[in-house]
Amino acid sequence: MGIDINRVRKDFPILGRDINGKPIIYFDNACQTLRPTQVINKINEYYNEYPACVGRSNHKLGERAAKEVSEARKRVSKFFNVKESEIIFTRNTTEGINLISHAFKLNGGESVLISDKEHNSNLIPWLMLRKKRINVKFFRFGDLEDFQDKIDSTVKLVSTAHVSNMDGTSQQIEKIAKISHDHNAFVLVDAAQSAPHKQIDLKKLGADAVSCSGHKMLGPSGTGILYLSEKSMGNMDLFMTGGETVVNSTYDDVVFEKMPHRYEAGLQNYAGIIGLGEAVEYLKKIGMNNIESHERKLNEIITKGLESEIGKGIQLLGDAKPESRSGIFSFNLSGMTYHEVSLLLDKTSNIMIRSGQHCVHSWFNANKIDGSARASLYLYNTEEEAKTFVESVKKLSSFGK
Ligand code: PMP
Repeated sequence: MGIDINRVRKDFPILGRDINGKPIIYFDNACQTLRPTQVINKINEYYNEYPACVGRSNHKLGERAAKEVSEARKRVSKFFNVKESEIIFTRNTTEGINLISHAFKLNGGESVLISDKEHNSNLIPWLMLRKKRINVKFFRFGDLEDFQDKIDSTVKLVSTAHVSNMDGTSQQIEKIAKISHDHNAFVLVDAAQSAPHKQIDLKKLGADAVSCSGHKMLGPSGTGILYLSEKSMGNMDLFMTGGETVVNSTYDDVVFEKMPHRYEAGLQNYAGIIGLGEAVEYLKKIGMNNIESHERKLNEIITKGLESEIGKGIQLLGDAKPESRSGIFSFNLSGMTYHEVSLLLDKTSNIMIRSGQHCVHSWFNANKIDGSARASLYLYNTEEEAKTFVESVKKLSSFGK
């Protein structure tokens, strides 16, 4: 059926804004997406109509807030095809990964296996465990044979990205999960760059835990989702404790809540959670398969448009085929730094992209590449925008020569 792009764009009034007589072209979606009016209205609804505590206040406003948060959890659990009790609301992908890195029971001498292309948020929490004599081992991202070689009986936890934020390439998580489970290892997936862009049935994916960010999928800033399968609970300790995580306490003892509340300590970002529920509903209506094919089409236009320059004035990161790079086009131009590329695209064409190491410093350091300019697409971007990007990059490329 596809996306009715003209209708969709009306939901994002910021796209109608012109700066210096040119419309905004927002290609920094891997960082944060824009938000539709429906999500913004839902956030305002909380503050205007029921700005109360959840699970503590039994007055009318508290009851309404509790109902809305519960509805948001229902929407998110349906979106991913898992139980409501398996959905923990967090601040972002990073917090979900930290929760697992702190709560999963590991002993000195045991290992964690991650890929060589992880975001700092899925690298640093594991490196910190070295202080407790936990080994951190690496496999080559996307290389199942290498993964199979690296996994051994010391590996108790595998944590890796579904889609790379650096170049858009992806991994076969179902296979990684199967091999890991054959070795009795727990599997955590960083879905920050996949959950917003493709249909994910978490039951089929087979991972034990999955972390993603609301702000990368039309949700409010500083919202996240951690799926944690019920059956993993046996090997999980606590993370943050305090109010809302307990059923009862004495001066000596505590009875902790069940999932998910035992992991949602203190007063939560209710407006954010409710807004995130609205965001996944919006995505569901558009259709995740439609979003995936839309981004692929745009990435094809960009890649084909710049094909004659790739390998010459343009160095592309990741696979040559656009269909292997999700909605990401990560590149460098000869004779120009990636920050100059990004600044010039912004200044000359109102095209907003990201430049730098994209929090994957480790990979750039290991591969002796300074960084890259990265365009990342989403459901509201158009073919015309993709063509404008191609023309603008070509112009810059001819400058750099
Ligand atoms: N992992 C990946 C693959 C990401 O792309 C990002 C954000 N760029 C993160 C983790 C961290 O996300 P957040 O800052 O929302 O926690």
